[in-house]
Parts: sequence; structure tokens; C-alpha cells
Amino acid sequence: MNKEKLTLLIGGEEIGRRVAELAERISADYEGKQLLLVCVLKGAVIFASDLMRRLKVPAEIDFIAVSSYGSDTASSGVVRILKDLDKSIKGKDVLIVEDIVDTGLTLNYLRSSLLNRKPRSLKVVTLLDKPVRRKVEFTPDYCGFEIPDHFVVGYGLDYDEKYRQLEGIYVLDPEL
Ligand code: 5GP
Repeated sequence: MNKEKLTLLIGGEEIGRRVAELAERISADYEGKQLLLVCVLKGAVIFASDLMRRLKVPAEIDFIAVSSYGSDTASSGVVRILKDLDKSIKGKDVLIVEDIVDTGLTLNYLRSSLLNRKPRSLKVVTLLDKPVRRKVEFTPDYCGFEIPDHFVVGYGLDYDEKYRQLEGIYVLDPEL
């Protein structure tokens, strides 16, 4: 039985168009380079694979998992690496691919942790950004959509592991 109510925020076609635009910009910015995408599991998997297929520069992909909020929608502020990258990123042009920036704590931590490993460059692309929720200063290099302060699901984002397979982004409105 579903207790949650979903309201469409961004449709699948609009996401597709925006991902294509981001891929164009990133391909232009990294022309002549070899890109290493660092996909943050699990939420960014669908975004990363759609983005990667549209890149015009050679790209590798690796995966990292950090502690998430579980079934709670509030930020714990505690970030831990649960699954690390398979290979060294030293000397590489690295682009972190994230689903959403909320408080900024996760990416703030990930960025400084990966910078310690001496990549040649390190940038961040996020599909969604909720700037009003920031607890630490963080600005992604590339962003798909800025959204208001709602908990969203779909296109890789989950609530308690549900809804990742939805094509669009939906606002989750749990019934109390
Ligand atoms: P931050 O550290 O910026 O607060 O949060 C980043 C992580 O929190 C995201 O990678 C995502 O896992 C989770 N998160 C933040 N906001 C949302 C949201 O609206 N929906 C979902 N499904 N996850 C979110």
C-alpha cells in the first residue's frame, strides 16, 4: 500500500533536454581531454548514464557510495564513504556526478576528500540543486535544475529505495 502522494515537478522529456544541454557544455569544456566521471551511488546512477551517453569526449566512469539519510528525509550531517573508488584519480580530470545538492555537506566533504588524492582537475555536476537548504557554502560547477525546498523522488532519487525508476522528478508528499 502506497502512503505517499507524488506530484510531478519535472517531466522526463524536459530532463532529457537539459541533460543533453549539460553534456554539450561539458563536452565543450573538456575538449581534447579524457574525463573520469565519479558517480555518487545510488541516486546519480540514471543521471550519470544518460549524461555519459551524450558526452562527445572520451569518458571513464567509477562509483563511490557515501552514507545517505536512509528512510529519514532530514539531513544527519554525517558523511561516510561506504564504497570507495576502484582506481586512483591522481592526475585525472574528474567530474563528480551527483543527483541533488541539499545542505551541501555531502559534496563539500566529497570534494575535499577527492582533492586530497591529487586529481588534475575536479568539478561537480548535479542534476538538481536546492540552494535555500545550504548549511555550508557550496556551488556546483554545472547544474540541471534549481528547485524549491521539497523532498523529491524519481530519475534515480528514492524514498526508502522506492521510486528510482520513475522517468520524471516528483515531489513526495507523505500523508501523515
Ligand atoms: P546534502 O549533503 O547536500 O544535504 O545531501 C545530498 C544527498 O541527500 C543527496 O545525494 C541525496 O541522497 C539526499 N537528498 C537530499 N535532498 C533530497 C531529496 O529531495 N530527495 C531525495 N530522494 N534525496 C535527497
